Amino acid sequence: MATLSSSPLGAATGTPAIITAQNLGKTYHSGKLDVTALRNVSFTAAPGEFVAIVGPSGSGKSTLFYVLGGLTQATSGSLFIDGAEFSKLSDLERTRMRRSRIGFVFQRFNLLPTLTALGNIEIAHDIANLGAKEKKPLDRPLLDHLADMMGIKGRLDHRPNELSGGEQQRVAIARALISRPAIVLADEPTGNLDTKNSDAVLDMLRRSGRELNQTVLMITHNPEAAQIADRIIHMRDGEIKNIEKGTGRVIHEA
Ligand code: ADP
Repeated sequence: MATLSSSPLGAATGTPAIITAQNLGKTYHSGKLDVTALRNVSFTAAPGEFVAIVGPSGSGKSTLFYVLGGLTQATSGSLFIDGAEFSKLSDLERTRMRRSRIGFVFQRFNLLPTLTALGNIEIAHDIANLGAKEKKPLDRPLLDHLADMMGIKGRLDHRPNELSGGEQQRVAIARALISRPAIVLADEPTGNLDTKNSDAVLDMLRRSGRELNQTVLMITHNPEAAQIADRIIHMRDGEIKNIEKGTGRVIHEA
């Protein structure tokens, strides 16, 4: 078992961790077969830290994201998000936590096709507010700031099919960030993009994470993209095999 940090402190900044995973295990039961997707996964991540998760297909990266995002429960171990132990929360509390504290970015963008870019961002805000005692109005200055940062200001009244892949992903990032989540989980966010758009998206994820003090966890199979991170977690067969420092920038092989 490899451990990023045995203390609840984030290794990178010394501030209290926003994510603390301790010996997480996950076994799927499918028919008569048990598939162990995660074994003894322990790590911490600090606020504002960028962590890349790499590993071959089937190594447990997506399962780790489902567990971190509260979409499925770990079979063993414990997970603290922002000081709350996930497994001790009720389903409703976990759903609320997910909506308000965690933003998701997917490889296929997952924008609603009938809504404009702005409509997609607004609906994410509404969903983040579902069940909240006091509904927060849409944060217009943040929306302006995100639209500026993502370079989509002039594209907000367009529907997804009128936008390039790079633009769609930048809208999807703005959608994930509009509720000021503490944690952004990005699953192969550059998987459908060419190099230029991929670099832009990585740079934006990195900048927004720093500016808004968000912890970004990004799954990628691209070693060049992984280098944008502060730390790179290498997974294999459901375990953390190795952790290295990233360079903080994308390095293209010549
Ligand atoms: P990765 O994202 O690295 O490709 P996954 O987390 O998707 O890895 O898968 C890890 C292991 O768990 C694989 O052996 C996969 O077949 C298995 N697995 C994933 N999801 C399920 C599921 N819903 N039911 C059964 N086995 C699953």
